[in-house]
Order: sequence, then structure tokens, then C-alpha cells
Amino acid sequence: QSGTKPPPPPSPLRNSKFFQSNMRILVTGGAGFIGSHLVDRLMENEKNEVIVVDNYFTGSKDNLKKWIGHPRFELIRHDVTETLLVEVDQIYHLACPASPIFYKHNPVKTIKTNVMGTLNMLGLAKRVGARILLTSTSEVYGDPLVHPQPETYWGNVNPIGVRSCYDEGKRVAETLMFDYHRQHGIEIRVARIFNTYGPRMNIDDGRVVSNFIAQALRDEPLTVQAPGTQTRSFCFVSDMVDGLIRLMEGEHTGPINIGNPGEFTMLELAETVKELINPKVKIISVENTPDDPRQRKPDITTAMELLGWEPKVKLREGLPLMEEDFRLRLGVPKN
Ligand code: NAD
Ligand code: UDP
Ligand code: UDP
Repeated sequence: QSGTKPPPPPSPLRNSKFFQSNMRILVTGGAGFIGSHLVDRLMENEKNEVIVVDNYFTGSKDNLKKWIGHPRFELIRHDVTETLLVEVDQIYHLACPASPIFYKHNPVKTIKTNVMGTLNMLGLAKRVGARILLTSTSEVYGDPLVHPQPETYWGNVNPIGVRSCYDEGKRVAETLMFDYHRQHGIEIRVARIFNTYGPRMNIDDGRVVSNFIAQALRDEPLTVQAPGTQTRSFCFVSDMVDGLIRLMEGEHTGPINIGNPGEFTMLELAETVKELINPKVKIISVENTPDDPRQRKPDITTAMELLGWEPKVKLREGLPLMEEDFRLRLGVPKN
């Protein structure tokens, strides 16, 4: 898994005495849902300095409020499609809208973020000799014809559909990662993230878990998109962050699936949310969007073998933790 050229020498700045014991880590998209939980975990280690860059398209400063002003933390308003000059040892590259309603809102921008954004972060990694991790997605498998999906599966993706800006964008981002690795010897890590949920998800971002919980708390019907038999596998955010850090710190480039293999139909998910959060709520069937994958479940054998990682939080344990956060933000106290 080594590249054709040795990595460039570390930058002089990082070699200076002051930084020697510290690890300086850049998190792009760190004001978002997964990014902010990752920042929390990285900041727990006193040896880490964390720099977040985010354009606040779907993220918010609120997610990072406990770190603003901390001497080991820095927050920069920046769009990754533009050049970025910082000196860091590691880059967690998350910047990209993840929810279909946001990534479809400005598809050209989504492509630019995935392609130019990843290119810029790789250029940065090359200049400073940093290790870089990309948060790719299970969407690279498209509407999969192999189930569950191992990393060796090449996918079934529509190149010209309304989701392509995201799916194909991430596929190009993965290609860029491997080309920089082979051509320039950059140390890369590629995570293929499956559906993740937890506190701090955007309440109205249209993703299924956040929709159902918000609907249940607002006494609105749970909107199951037809047919309702389509499946997803949901990973709690603390497990996800644990997997990402293990991948970054480990020896393997990936791509490695990080997700929870527990598979549910959307109808089952609705029934579970109803039972746990609001037994009186109705479940209704609504129209679906184009190219919705019919089934999705990670094969996590690689993560278990190479990273010693597997998720710990079951859906029935994670949903109440998210409910608590949504109640606070929506101002709906528990009876
Ligand atoms: P999110 O939307 O909460 O976070 C993305 C962050 O990136 C936001 O803070 C947003 O403002 C920022 N951003 C977007 N475009 C940017 C740009 N051009 N420049 C700078 N910042 C920009 O989403 P998330 O759920 O936290 O997802 C994080 C990463 O994980 C994304 O790369 C996403 O593709 C990937 N992922 C997430 C899931 C999931 O289920 N949440 C699944 C697969 C992959
Ligand atoms: N880049 C960046 N920060 C850096 C170094 C590079 O944002 O510290 C960007 C740079 O603007 C370029 C991209 O990364 O567009 C790719 O850089 P690379 O050096 O690989 O390619 P080149 O500049 O030769 O096109
Ligand atoms: N979905 C649903 N009701 C909603 C939102 C989504 O039934 O209110 C379904 C959607 O059709 C898809 C699944 O939930 O089959 C997951 O959708 P989401 O947008 O959360 O994630 P992705 O499609 O990216 O996996």
C-alpha cells in the first residue's frame, strides 16, 4: 500500500520546538453533525490542536460553542473550493453537505466541493506532508446489486441523475485520493460512511431519522416514503467517530466501510420511533424521490479485522439519546 514516491518532508514550522509534542489536526466541515462530534473527541486529547474550516452551509458555530475561545482550538470561515494555507499534521476532510435536500439544492456546488475541495485538501496534504482522511459514503455503491456491500463492490451508480452530484462527486474524490497516494506518496485514509444519526443532526434536513423523530415530537404523521420496504443501516455518531479515528491512526488506506450492519426497512424504523417516542402518532406513506437505493447494509468485516472496530450502540439505544437532544432544541419536554 505504499506510493511510488516518498512523501515530502514535513514543513519546517511543524518541526519547530513549540509544536513538537502537539498534533495539529485540520477538520474540514467540522461545524457539521459528524465533524463537531469528531472535534469533541479530538479536543479531549490535550496533545491535539484542532483547526476547523467550514463555510456554514449546513453546519453551525453552535455545534462548536464549547470550544470557541479554547487555546487549542481555532475556527475559520472558509470554503474548501478555495485554496487553504495552514500547517497541519492530519486532515479529516468532511466538508460536503450530506443530506439529499441540501446536496441537491445546488448540485454544481456539491460537485465543486467534492472535486475541487478534495483536490485542494490533497494539495495541502502534499505541501505539508500531512495524512488525510476522506469521509466518502455508502452512496458510492449507488443502488447496489450486491448485498451487503463489501469494499470490493464497484457499485451501481447513475452518472446523470439528481443524486449524481453527490455519489459521483464522492467517487471522483476517492479517485483523487488514490491518485495523489500513488503519484505523490500522500498518506491517505478513505472511510465509506453508512447512514449515521445522533444528537446535533439538522432538525429539518430531511433525513429519515431526524424527520421521524421531529415528526413524532411535533405530533405530525411519520412520512414513510414509498414503498417503505427499502432498507438502511443506522450507525450512532459516537461509534462513527471512533471508527474514523481508528482508521486515521491505523496503517490501512482503505477504503473501509464504517457503519452499523443492523438493517431496517423504513416502515420498521417508523414503527420503532412510534413505539419509543410517541405511540399516538400516525404513520403515512408519501411519494419517494428518484434513484432511492432499495437496500443498504455495510459488510464491516474489513473494519473488524483491520481496525478492530465494530459499532456498540444499538438503534433502540441511540434513538432515545437523539430524542433527548431534539426535545431540548424543539422545546418539547418529556411528560
Ligand atoms: P453536515 O452537513 O452536518 O456537515 C458537513 C459540513 O461541511 C457542514 O458543516 C457544512 O457547512 C460544511 N461544508 C459544506 N460544504 C462546504 C464547503 N464547500 N466548504 C467548507 N465547508 C463546507 O453532514 P455530516 O452528516 O456531518 O457529514 C459529514 C461528512 O460525512 C460528509 O462528507 C458526508 O458526505 C459524509 N457522510 C455522512 C453520512 C451521514 O449519514 N451523515 C453518510 C455518508 C457520508
Ligand atoms: N493547495 C491548497 N493549499 C496548499 C497547497 C495546495 O489549497 O497548501 C491547492 C492548490 O490551490 C491547488 C490544489 O491544492 O489548486 C492542488 O495542489 P497541487 O500542488 O497538487 O497541484 P498544482 O498546484 O500543481 O495544480
Ligand atoms: N425516507 C422516508 N421518510 C422521510 C425521509 C426519508 O421514508 O421522511 C426514506 C428515503 O426514501 C430513503 C431512506 O429513508 O429510502 C433514507 O433516506 P435519507 O435521506 O435519510 O438517506 P439516504 O437516502 O441518503 O440514505
